[in-house]
Amino acid sequence: MARTPQVDALGLDSARPLVIVDVDEVLGHFMEGFGAFLATRGLEFRVERFALFQNIYRPGEEVHLEIEEGRRHYDDFFRYGSGEMRVAEGAAEALRRLAEQAGVVILTNAPGQGRLARARWLGRNGLDYPLLLNTGPKGPLAAALAKQVKGPAAFIDDLLPNLDSVAESAPKVARFQHVADERLRPLAPAAPDRHTRIDDWDALRIAIADSIS
Ligand SMILES: [Mg+2]
Repeated sequence: MARTPQVDALGLDSARPLVIVDVDEVLGHFMEGFGAFLATRGLEFRVERFALFQNIYRPGEEVHLEIEEGRRHYDDFFRYGSGEMRVAEGAAEALRRLAEQAGVVILTNAPGQGRLARARWLGRNGLDYPLLLNTGPKGPLAAALAKQVKGPAAFIDDLLPNLDSVAESAPKVARFQHVADERLRPLAPAAPDRHTRIDDWDALRIAIADSIS
């Protein structure tokens, strides 16, 4: 089992509330960036369903790329291409203001070889908060972080499996779903009875601030 990250070792104050925030489709326009990266390789990303590898096509073809080939492009994007991703509108300002009342930690499911590019992207875009890479459901790690702080905690992600995982592992952590890409919003499954869905960062910031104050 992975070592539990210590919030004080991350430079966070355990006396303050904690905001745990995802990167792709929350702080950054992942689908758009990945699509632009694929275009440089002569491929198309079609936003037709809320999926990743099933949306990658060769131009003119009706059958998506082999999943394994899609995964290779995905890994390459993290390593070489994610530096080009556009920041979600209002995200940097929202975190800057939330950081006045809470510790902020970035929890991203990204391949390990993408750590450096990801950290650089965050730093360049005014999002220089402690970064944790994870694989699989985020609940156990979010719970381990939230347990170490005295104040309340909030968690923001675009994916229901991650939000459900946090609900199960750390039910007291406030949960918010955010989908940055306007094309994806109508396709993204939501569960507003379980997780608050807010796609606008200004409104989301206020809701997060309320949940941890
Ligand atoms: Mg995400």
